[in-house]
Amino acid sequence: MSRKTGRQFFSNPGPTNIPDSVLRAMDRPTIDFMDPEFVDVFQAGVAGLQRVLRTRGDVFLYTASGHGAWEATLLNLLSPGDGVLVLESGWFSEGWSEMAVKLGLKPTLVSADWRRGIDPAAVEAALRADAGHTIKAVLAVHNETSTGMVMHLPQIRAAMDAAAHPALLLVDTISSLGSLEFGMDEWGIDAVVGGSQKGLMLPTGFSFTAVSAKGLEAHATARLPRHYFDWSEMVKRGFRSFVGTVPVSLFYGLRESLRLIELEGLEQVVARHRRLAEAARRAVRTWSGNNGPQLYCLDPARYSDSVTAVLMPEGHNAERVRKTALDRFNVSMGGGLGQLGGKVFRIGHMGDLNEPMILGTLAAVEMSLRLTGVPHGKGGVEAAMDWLAAA
Ligand SMILES: *Cc1c(COP(=O)(O)O)cnc(C)c1O
Repeated sequence: MSRKTGRQFFSNPGPTNIPDSVLRAMDRPTIDFMDPEFVDVFQAGVAGLQRVLRTRGDVFLYTASGHGAWEATLLNLLSPGDGVLVLESGWFSEGWSEMAVKLGLKPTLVSADWRRGIDPAAVEAALRADAGHTIKAVLAVHNETSTGMVMHLPQIRAAMDAAAHPALLLVDTISSLGSLEFGMDEWGIDAVVGGSQKGLMLPTGFSFTAVSAKGLEAHATARLPRHYFDWSEMVKRGFRSFVGTVPVSLFYGLRESLRLIELEGLEQVVARHRRLAEAARRAVRTWSGNNGPQLYCLDPARYSDSVTAVLMPEGHNAERVRKTALDRFNVSMGGGLGQLGGKVFRIGHMGDLNEPMILGTLAAVEMSLRLTGVPHGKGGVEAAMDWLAAA
């Protein structure tokens, strides 16, 4: 095997690039997680997460990836046979729904075109139709990582309020937190699911749920069986989280990643993601000429600023482009998930990223389109440079 030179351009939509200073911050000997030195680091980490989430709610953490936090959230808030309203967005909403079925919940789907996103009026109609309030929770994915589309949560909250429905609003922010604008309390969200390895720029290893006062009330009567994930067990512990060992090193990393986010400023972080995402979109729009690949998302108001899904022209396989970029240019991107397998590839642009990094990735994609004989308009990277230089 030949040596791959230089740094791999890691453009996956999670996990993401880990800043060097975060890597350094975690490079330290293990200490007891009961050590007062660590307790301070832990508590500062939780307070920082609350600032990024913009919430005063409680945060419960697990040594698990995002899927664990999905499961924990359903287990702690719901009872066997409860109805949940799943807002279709793509592969991740399907996954959450499937989990709900296996846990003994009864999902109803508000279906949506994956390229256009959900209609809030359909959410309102579904809730109005549930006069008996059998639906206990609405499950929404803020940023659908499989399609590159954002859901405007204030519109969902407004639809729930218009229907005067008391269901909890549960939101997956795994690929939006620390990248896109988010306000848990302001937007009236009852539970937020997040993970370490995307916008927070950390290794995979912890995930969490932030929960509103209304969510905590629901927890008091929720009867799904749970143990490791049980918030009631957690509050008995000093950490009010983690039934089991606390992933200490990750919290030293979190302290540094929060420092970086707050040094840049949350608003600037969001603006940077918007700027770099727009560069990717301008490149794709240029490639779409000559019957080339195009943006999967068809609604400009719903473009994701943390991931762009690119739809291949008929008869061309996205995996060939993705593999060419990886094998020839050492650029790693995401493939199509579920029904989008082979149809799309995904350019991740979340986390620790700057202009030359996105331009390098876009250049590798443009060369890969050429090498795989995919028709496309030339000059995508040029269009991205024009935008970035002027932005
Ligand atoms: C990455 C992701 C998940 C899954 O998280 P894991 O940490 O891989 O378990 C869930 N939802 C969304 C929207 C994601 O992007």
